[in-house]
Amino acid sequence: MAKKTDHCSFCGKPRKDTALLISGLDAHICDSCVQQAQLILNEENMHHGSEAGVPDFKLLKPLEIKEFLDQYVIGQDTAKRVLAVAVYNHYKRINQPVTNDDVEIEKSNMILVGETGTGKTLLARTIARMLHVPFAIADATVLTEAGYVGEDVESILSRLLQAADFDVKAAERGIVFIDELDKIARKSDNPSITRDVSGEGVQQALLKLLEGTAVNVPPQGGRKHPEQKMIQVDTRNILFIAGGAFDGVERIIAARTRTNVIGYGSEKETIADKNNLLQYISPADLKKFGLIPEIVGRLPIITYLNPLTPEILKQILTDPKNALLKQFTKLFEMDGIKLKIEEEVLDFVVEKTLDFKLGARGLRSILEAILTDDMFELPSKKSIKTLVVSREYAEKKFNKAGLSKLKVA
Ligand code: ADP
Repeated sequence: MAKKTDHCSFCGKPRKDTALLISGLDAHICDSCVQQAQLILNEENMHHGSEAGVPDFKLLKPLEIKEFLDQYVIGQDTAKRVLAVAVYNHYKRINQPVTNDDVEIEKSNMILVGETGTGKTLLARTIARMLHVPFAIADATVLTEAGYVGEDVESILSRLLQAADFDVKAAERGIVFIDELDKIARKSDNPSITRDVSGEGVQQALLKLLEGTAVNVPPQGGRKHPEQKMIQVDTRNILFIAGGAFDGVERIIAARTRTNVIGYGSEKETIADKNNLLQYISPADLKKFGLIPEIVGRLPIITYLNPLTPEILKQILTDPKNALLKQFTKLFEMDGIKLKIEEEVLDFVVEKTLDFKLGARGLRSILEAILTDDMFELPSKKSIKTLVVSREYAEKKFNKAGLSKLKVA
C-alpha cells in the first residue's frame, strides 16, 4: 500500500499523477489543488471588494501616481501627468457608488504619441504594476479583420485573460496597451477609397472592444473557430492605452498650425518650438493621419512623448529603479565580480544609441555587445574579481561584436 505521504491530502491524487506535491507538517498538496485554492482566494477577494465586485485598492492621487512613475520612467513629464489624471479618473469611475444623478463618468482610454523607444510601453506597464492589475500588450500590426489571415481583435483580450490567469473579473479591470496603432491607419484621408483590409477594417473591429461591451473571447487567442469554447469579457472597465509613432504627423500639425517645418519663411511661423511639434497634437491630426473618427472618439485623451536627448538617455542608463547599469552590475555581482563602468563609456553608449535611432531600446543592445565576451568568460575565471570598462575597451568590444554594421542611416 502506498504511504500516506504519497498522496495529495486534498484530492487524494497519488504523487505520480501530480506535477508537484508540496509537503507541509502533516499534509501535502498537489499543484492542481494549489491552483484551485488560488482561484478560491481570487473569488474571495472579489467578494470582499466593493459592491460593484471591484476589489478595493488604495488609489493613489495623481501626484503620487506621477511620483511612482518617476521611479521607473525618466522625463516625459507631460505624458506622466496626463496619464496620472486619466488613470486616477478611470479608477474613480470604476469605484463610483451607484447614484441617481445621471452623471456618468466616461472612460479615459488614451493615445500616447511618440517615437519608438521613448517609453510608451514602459509607462503603461508601470501603471499596471502600480495598480496590481493584469496588463497585456497587443501589437496592432498583427490584427486583421475577421476572415483574413492574422489575429482577430479579440485575441487582445485573450492575452489579458492569460495575464489574469483566467480570472475574468480581474481581467475586466485590467489595462491593455495597443502598440503601433498608427500602423492600422487608413492609407488615405479619403474615406471613399476602397476599404483596406489592414487599416479601416481593423479599426472598425477594434471599436467594438473600446466601446465597452461583452465580447466573446477565444481563451487561447489567435483565430476564433466554431467549436471553441468562448469566455465572455466585459470591456467596460478595461483601460485601453494605445501607442504609436505616427511618423509624419508633424507635417499635419505643422500645416494646421501654419508652421513651416522646413525652416524658411519664419514670418509664417506661429509656433515657436517647431522642434517638437508633437506637443500640439490634436484629435484632428490623428483623423487626418488615417484614424477613423470613431476610434479617435473612443480614445479621447491624447498626449505625447518627447524624443530622448543624450542627457535623458544617460539618465536612463543609471537612474531608474531597475536601470540597465544596476542590472548588469547585479549580474556580475552574482559571479563575485565588481563591474566598474567608467563615465565616458556611458557617453559612448549614448552616442551609439542615437545612431541606431531605436530610442532607449538601443541602450541595452549596445551594453550587451560590449559586455557579452566578459559575461561569457569571466564566470569561469575565478581569479578575476573586478572588471573595469574604459571607453577604449568598450569601443573595441563594440566593434568586434559587429553591431556597428547595423547602424541605421
Ligand atoms: P516605446 O515607446 O516604443 O513603447 P518602450 O517603452 O518599449 O518604448 O521602451 C523601450 C525600452 O527603453 C524600455 O524597456 C525601457 O527600458 C527604455 N526606456 C524608454 N524610454 C524610457 C524612459 N523615458 N525612461 C526609462 N526607460 C526608458
